[in-house]
Amino acid sequence: MNQEPIKISDSEWEVMRVIWNEKCSDAKGIYDVLGVAKNWKMATIKTLLGRLVKKGALSTEQEGKKFLYRPLVNEMQVIQDATTELLAHICAKKMGQTISEMLSQVELTEKDIQEINEQLAKKKPVKIIKCDCLPGQCDCHKNERGNENETNICN
Ligand SMILES: [Zn+2]
Repeated sequence: MNQEPIKISDSEWEVMRVIWNEKCSDAKGIYDVLGVAKNWKMATIKTLLGRLVKKGALSTEQEGKKFLYRPLVNEMQVIQDATTELLAHICAKKMGQTISEMLSQVELTEKDIQEINEQLAKKKPVKIIKCDCLPGQCDCHKNERGNENETNICN
């Protein structure tokens, strides 16, 4: 499995999901799942497959007239990388609120809730959260910037 995080587009992700599910597929197999539903032509799917091979997300081998594709990255890892990247855009002080908001949006089973509760029970609350934002990207650094008197031009 590849170590470097691989960035995949929304369309590439749709293709990867079919291959993760099937373990191995050819362009026709992907077309059967996504062609009509996404209104994609075979050429579109072949383009996406080519990009995924180039990115190192898929391996390809020729078998007779077809090319077979297999995943080189696992689904959970790609999800985790995307989550890490999303969280990197958010001020550390807004994480709790963001996660709470995500929880309110999803459906959960009894087992899911139990697992989340166990994670929460393990968390040790901290008094102060320091963020890594650049001054000016969030309001954590107002006093450090020494320009509290500066008026916002939008006011
Ligand atoms: Zn911040």
